[in-house]
Amino acid sequence: MSSSSPAEQAPINWVTTLMFVFTTLPLFTVLPWYLWTHDVSGWAWFWGVALLYANGIGITAGYHRLWAHRSYKAHPLLKLVYALFGGMAIQNSILVWASMHRIHHQHVDHVDKDPYSAKRGLWYSHIGWMLRDYPSAELDFENARDLKADKIVMWQHRHYLALILVMNIGIPVLLGLAYGDLWGFVLIAGFLRLVVNHHVTFFINSLAHFWGRQPYTTRNTARDNDVLAFLTYGEGYHNYHHLFQYDYRNGIRWWHYDPTKWLIAACSWVGLTTELKRVPDFKIQRAMLQAQFERAREKLAQKANANTGRVAELQHLLEQEWQHFSQTVAEWSRLQGEKLEAAKQQFSERVHERMHEAQNQWEHSEMRQKLLAMEQALEEALEMQRQRVKLLRVQMAYA
Ligand SMILES: [Zn+2]
Ligand SMILES: [Zn+2]
Repeated sequence: MSSSSPAEQAPINWVTTLMFVFTTLPLFTVLPWYLWTHDVSGWAWFWGVALLYANGIGITAGYHRLWAHRSYKAHPLLKLVYALFGGMAIQNSILVWASMHRIHHQHVDHVDKDPYSAKRGLWYSHIGWMLRDYPSAELDFENARDLKADKIVMWQHRHYLALILVMNIGIPVLLGLAYGDLWGFVLIAGFLRLVVNHHVTFFINSLAHFWGRQPYTTRNTARDNDVLAFLTYGEGYHNYHHLFQYDYRNGIRWWHYDPTKWLIAACSWVGLTTELKRVPDFKIQRAMLQAQFERAREKLAQKANANTGRVAELQHLLEQEWQHFSQTVAEWSRLQGEKLEAAKQQFSERVHERMHEAQNQWEHSEMRQKLLAMEQALEEALEMQRQRVKLLRVQMAYA
């Protein structure tokens, strides 16, 4: 956390340091002069933004949600596009990136184990962790055996340097020649696009662990933040993501800005993505309520010294709500067991009694409908309870 920590004495990583210097310096020297003295074509800006999104989504939909978290499956063609354009972002190969990101989730906030721990400060979690060879960033790929078996991942890993050079020099130069604005394209679609993409992605490790709300869990530093979601192609719902990392969505409400989720869902309509994983709504409601209870209890603990009748009354009401909550959760668990049994039974009856298959199917689909309705009722009960607990918390503030 402090600059005197022994880990801060790690040797400088000259490759990444020089890469950042080389890519950032032109933005403060050549670019302002060029913009002042030349007319840059609108196409250079257009392609700058288009490539920014191609790189950003390659990282979020590919590197992050597909490879690091396996939250869905993708067609090899789509994987190839992710590998090329995500690779172009110069954030290391999929293998290294995803392996390190899995460690981040496993040891989130741990000062020595999380490679970009927010507990070591904003600068460290944003970029500092890459500028030196810290022991916390060492990898052995033990947690990435599945990725080592992925041909596209290993192909990209082996040819990573060639790939980033070809993509980052080749595409802006070819486009620049085609539009007759070589240097405009090199500066905007080349350097500016790359550096902007670097920092907005790094915001997820830095700002998204410092700034925003924590509706789902307070057990780690991750936050939900709409401004960051807009800047990071939908990755700003980081509090949700740290609790439910296997969900292909980060923004779960329709009004949440999550273009990465929209792309993954749209690709599923044409078969480019399959097996999209979603956390059941009940579990999400349960997490939100649990976080509410924790906050309410904290607030009550602060008032414990007051020892007034009002505080005792609120405490009693909160405990009643907790009982109610525990019952709803137990009921839901029971329902899940019933659902599983019903599905199993249907399967075995299908195999053994083909004659009654149609009838069984009908019966069980009735059954399924009933169970689904019960499940929905429980979900609604939790949502209503969340409003009640919220109200209790407001009352506590004035108790
Ligand atoms: Zn994180
Ligand atoms: Zn993640």
